Amino acid sequence: MNTRSIRFRLAVWYGGLLIAVFILVGGLMYAGLKFYLEHSLAETQSRRAQQITDTLLAQIAATGDKYVTNEISARFAPEINDRFIRVTGDAPNPLYVSSNPRDGSFDASHVPRRRENAAGNSWRKESVPGNKQLLIASVPYKTPQGRRFVVEVGVSMEPIEEVLRRLVLVLALGLAVMVSVSVGAGYWLVRKALAPVVKTANSAEQITLHNLKERLPVARTGDELERLSVSLNHMIARLEDALQHNRRFIADASHEMRTPLTIMRGELEGIVAAAHADRALQAKATSVLEEVERLARIVEGLFAISRLDAGEAQKEWVRFDLAKLVTATAEQMCLLAEDKEIKVACNAEREVFIEGDRARLKQVVVNLLDNAIKYTPAGGKIRLSTFACGSKAVFEVEDNGIGIPEAARAHIFERFFRVDKARSREMGGAGLGLSIVKSICAAHGGQVDFYSTEGRGSRFKVELPLSQSNDAKGN
Ligand code: ADP
Repeated sequence: MNTRSIRFRLAVWYGGLLIAVFILVGGLMYAGLKFYLEHSLAETQSRRAQQITDTLLAQIAATGDKYVTNEISARFAPEINDRFIRVTGDAPNPLYVSSNPRDGSFDASHVPRRRENAAGNSWRKESVPGNKQLLIASVPYKTPQGRRFVVEVGVSMEPIEEVLRRLVLVLALGLAVMVSVSVGAGYWLVRKALAPVVKTANSAEQITLHNLKERLPVARTGDELERLSVSLNHMIARLEDALQHNRRFIADASHEMRTPLTIMRGELEGIVAAAHADRALQAKATSVLEEVERLARIVEGLFAISRLDAGEAQKEWVRFDLAKLVTATAEQMCLLAEDKEIKVACNAEREVFIEGDRARLKQVVVNLLDNAIKYTPAGGKIRLSTFACGSKAVFEVEDNGIGIPEAARAHIFERFFRVDKARSREMGGAGLGLSIVKSICAAHGGQVDFYSTEGRGSRFKVELPLSQSNDAKGN
């Protein structure tokens, strides 16, 4: 799970907020219920104490102490009702203390006395042995004869604690259920709401320099996402315009340069060939002619790339055998290899039919084989092979030459990139050969890749779609 995704972060925020609100509401509920239960219990005990003062202590002068204590035992039966009653007078010993309750929930003889400074009716909580708590209401009373009493009536708080314990349990269960259901539902909702964003991102990833005509899908929802898709589409349109402008400029510039270069070449060739010309002038003209030819090759390369980028390879589309094309091209170029005593082995016996611009694809073979010859020292070996693999026609050029250094591998298909500029220039390279190969492959729906070890050699692999009718033959 991606913890940085909006989906995850929203779900965490949402869940955290929900837990905080639930805990707050649960806490208020707990406090409210505790307050209510304790106060109503205290009130009930207070009423009982009041009853003792009003009905028994008020008459104590006439009835006597003994009568009062007997009556308390008989009428209120604190032991049977699990209650605590104590009547304290002026004497150090209480007038009456109930015995331990029947359920044994507390020890009546250990219940602390009310604080001396307590005034009026009040209630308090007292801890008694066994981790129990008693809620004790106390009512002070003064007889008309001036005797002072404090009547205390208490009861165990266990039932209240039990109710509160259950409430906590219910709240905890409710919290777990509510949080998991709402976080799950929230996650699902956010995921659903963000699905168009994922779709737009996937579509945007498919758009490259080669299919800038495509646009992102726009869901007419009228929301921010629709606006985002529309804005991105406008941006792609602007990029497409800028790229077209750039391509047109390169195409126009290289086209414009071809004619003057041809004229210059012609003139220079004339000077070099002129028998009566000054030797020094001829030498200079030869050198300039070399540079003009290099320039002409660069211009041709740029012109070829700009036409490919404009999709011109599509015009002369035919079905042909790639194996035959490779064999024929290798034969034409074998002289170059022989000059360097390089052995070229061609493994292209089986037919591999593809569809495309034959001349352009021949250029792919020429450029790759030319590089292999250029960057393989004398006495080396080059192996060409073609074969079908799945729905692809594969063409490979493998050499045991100088190889490509690791640092250069990422840039090898960039325009004007050369590993060793001086060396490549010496060999007539301008760093456009592989760019042209890449553009031709892309224009044919294929791709070019390479594997290389510095000092041991390189293998360039071109993959193109097999002709549909070729597939039918089961190749
Ligand atoms: P160039 O015209 O300079 O050969 P390319 O675009 O064809 O330009 O190749 C770019 C660079 O890639 C070359 O300068 C060379 O350094 C390197 N390169 C291409 N093919 C090979 C190969 N078969 N072996 C070693 N290096 C190669």
